[in-house]
Amino acid sequence: MTQSKTTQNMPSMLPHIQALDTYEGVDPMEVMAERAGISPDKIIRLNGNENPYGPSPKVAGALGSYQNFNYYPDPGQRSLRRVLSGYLNVDQEMIVAGNGSDELIDLLLRMYVGVGDNVIIPTPTFGMYSFSAGICGGEAIPVERDENFEIDLEAMKAAITPKSKIIFLTSPNNPTGNIVPESQTRALLDTGMIVVMDEAYFEFCGETAIPLLSEYKNLVVLRTFSKWAGLAGLRIGVGAMDPELAATMMAMKPPYNVNLAAEVALITSLEDTPGLLVRVKQIVAERDRMMELLGKIPNLTPWPSRANFILCQVPEGQGQAIFDGLCSRGIFLRYWSSGRMKDFIRTSIGLPSETDAVVQAFSELCGGNNAA
Ligand SMILES: *Cc1c(COP(=O)(O)O)cnc(C)c1O
Repeated sequence: MTQSKTTQNMPSMLPHIQALDTYEGVDPMEVMAERAGISPDKIIRLNGNENPYGPSPKVAGALGSYQNFNYYPDPGQRSLRRVLSGYLNVDQEMIVAGNGSDELIDLLLRMYVGVGDNVIIPTPTFGMYSFSAGICGGEAIPVERDENFEIDLEAMKAAITPKSKIIFLTSPNNPTGNIVPESQTRALLDTGMIVVMDEAYFEFCGETAIPLLSEYKNLVVLRTFSKWAGLAGLRIGVGAMDPELAATMMAMKPPYNVNLAAEVALITSLEDTPGLLVRVKQIVAERDRMMELLGKIPNLTPWPSRANFILCQVPEGQGQAIFDGLCSRGIFLRYWSSGRMKDFIRTSIGLPSETDAVVQAFSELCGGNNAA
């Protein structure tokens, strides 16, 4: 290969882009399998809060028989907004669908945050907010949650500067599993900042800020079909917000941001909502069973969760070793190697057999002689 010619005039990249840390997404199954030296079908993958039951069984049929993939999707999202209006119980004009809710987070940030602006984020939480803020040249101001991972309202308000634009709330919060009480949501909405309420796990808990949309123009509620509906790989999420804000977002989004396969899958999923909710119920029951089993392991503290995952606290200084031990058994959970979370490991709720394997592994790794 010949070396490409260097040019004197090649511009330098924007400093805030050069400074970005990569967002660590979940690796494909084959990569995990190779790392553990185990065949892919023996891997237990519980690090992305994905749905162990897959999409609605009707989705494969709908995608297989769909005839019009040669056409671009509707940039106005008319069919999508119609069905999503029923799902969210808000007017179509208040709805924007995205390539995952991740895209809606990115679009919102681009609407409000420029170089030098900031967003307020109660941590620990989902990593995408600060990552996407960084792409806009914005600063993420982290506000530590208290010892029970509850939001520190006074610290949140004190963190607001004239450059603050958006407050990100997550309910239930990833990775801690607890919800934001409505009184806190209202208090933060009263600051006048844009408040994003990310309800990625709504179906597992049933509590929503949607009714507050009629009171607050500065509220944006996000949902996704990645978790409850098992469509993570097709990438589709939705935002509900003030109609003017939604109109601007519709105008600035990439015209064909939601692909037709995702659209067909979403419409089919909503037709099969009762079937999907049966599985959600199963996952919630499995979470409660896993919670009880984890609670019996000496030296392990599972945090109560309203979502499809459980955050597990392991003995001080042992997070990395326990995570490595899990990986070598072919069990892939979510681990943060630094800061406050370094003795915490998050497990998604999978199939009952996966629960049993994870509980067994944790018993061996945390329980010492008391291993079950
Ligand atoms: C998983 C997750 C998302 C991602 O949603 P996509 O629709 O797949 O982009 C958003 N927010 C939180 C808090 C999540 O945990």
